[in-house]
Amino acid sequence: MTERTRNAVIIGGGVGGLTAALALERRGWAVDVFEQAPALKEVGSGVMISPNAMSVLFALGLEQVVARGVPLTHVELCTWRGEALRRERAEDVPGTDVPAVLFHRAALHGALHAALGSGTRVHLGARLTRFEEDGEGVVARFEDGREARGDVLVGADGLHSVVRAQLHPGERMRYAGHPCWRGLARGFSHPALPRGLLRETQGRGARFGVGHVREDLVYWWATADWPQGEPVPGGDSAFLARVFQTAHAPIPELIAATRPADLLRNDLLDRPPLARWGRGRVTLLGDAAHPMMPNMGQGACSAIEDGAVLARTLEETRDVAEGLRRYAARRQDRTRWLQELSWRFGVVGQWRQPAAVWLREKAMRLAPASALRRQYTRLWGWRLGSDG
Ligand SMILES: Cc1cc2nc3c(=O)[nH]c(=O)nc-3n(C[C@H](O)[C@H](O)[C@H](O)COP(=O)(O)OP(=O)(O)OC[C@H]3O[C@@H](n4cnc5c(N)ncnc54)[C@H](O)[C@@H]3O)c2cc1C
Repeated sequence: MTERTRNAVIIGGGVGGLTAALALERRGWAVDVFEQAPALKEVGSGVMISPNAMSVLFALGLEQVVARGVPLTHVELCTWRGEALRRERAEDVPGTDVPAVLFHRAALHGALHAALGSGTRVHLGARLTRFEEDGEGVVARFEDGREARGDVLVGADGLHSVVRAQLHPGERMRYAGHPCWRGLARGFSHPALPRGLLRETQGRGARFGVGHVREDLVYWWATADWPQGEPVPGGDSAFLARVFQTAHAPIPELIAATRPADLLRNDLLDRPPLARWGRGRVTLLGDAAHPMMPNMGQGACSAIEDGAVLARTLEETRDVAEGLRRYAARRQDRTRWLQELSWRFGVVGQWRQPAAVWLREKAMRLAPASALRRQYTRLWGWRLGSDG
């Protein structure tokens, strides 16, 4: 007797939801993705996808996606004056048998969407309000009255996840103490900014990161201590110009070259790691499961990893509740580590006392190469199967 095709209901059509859909579809699942927005799209900014997540995309047959972004050649951490504290050649970093790539978000998201086959249906304008489990499966209910039934429901609905709120009511978010602004400078070039370089500059209570996402497009991000939800005086561009006016070139030039329409602000929030991700036939994935500070560039990467591990684990058993428990168990140690590391890196990166900044710079200069290699191996060297 042939086995019935299993079907998954995925809530959220972000990077995590689309990767999970693709991975499940490739393993024979019928997939329905429900996205609240009227169109599938991403915010206009950049995203770094490191080799751990690129290896998943390669395994899903998306090798050609590399051409949509800019592979990293160097990674640099530097001081406010522009002195390099560390500069690594990407090819010397463990795990870079697969490239690390900086993308415009729409380019990555578009490639995932285009790769979906006939096994996946995407439903737009579908905002989940709640779900219910019964003996037969799980039912998702949407704001406009729609319903969908699945063998499994995956909450890939991001930082403000409705699925997570139903599973774990009353949780609070944690504010980093600073927003992150993201900008795109069009047609920008500067001799101190070669294509392929990803650079982070750390100052006193402010950081700035930058890299090309296309030949003609430079992506940058900036942090500065500021209360949650409070508008900055004079507007975002003028505020950032003031904060970064004494930073090394081309930081002030990049801020000046960015149109207000190409500038975004997000107050950075995360949540503490969960002891239990899901219940029965319901689980979480990506930011819904383990929202983290963007400091290690691993939020989208770990959502991509989740999708691959979910599909692989569910293939091992017909008991989906057992499969989902195993999936969470495989992911929890790594994602907890990433959440904690990302938080700590931000705390230290935002230090503002001169003595603390001196200490941070000294520590980065003197950090043994072997310790950095170990860290990169754990971050970028992850491959499907590493979690057990
Ligand atoms: C400033 C900044 C920089 C970052 N840089 C990087 C980086 O360089 N590299 C990296 O790996 N990560 C980075 N991240 C993190 C990354 O953006 C997130 O981790 C990633 O987008 C999470 O993907 P996701 O699919 O889990 O969630 P999301 O991308 O948030 O997608 C969730 C989707 O669910 C939909 N949705 C929400 N609620 C519902 C509902 N009730 N019903 C239906 N649909 C719903 C949303 O509309 C959305 O489309 C950065 C984050 C920030 C803030």
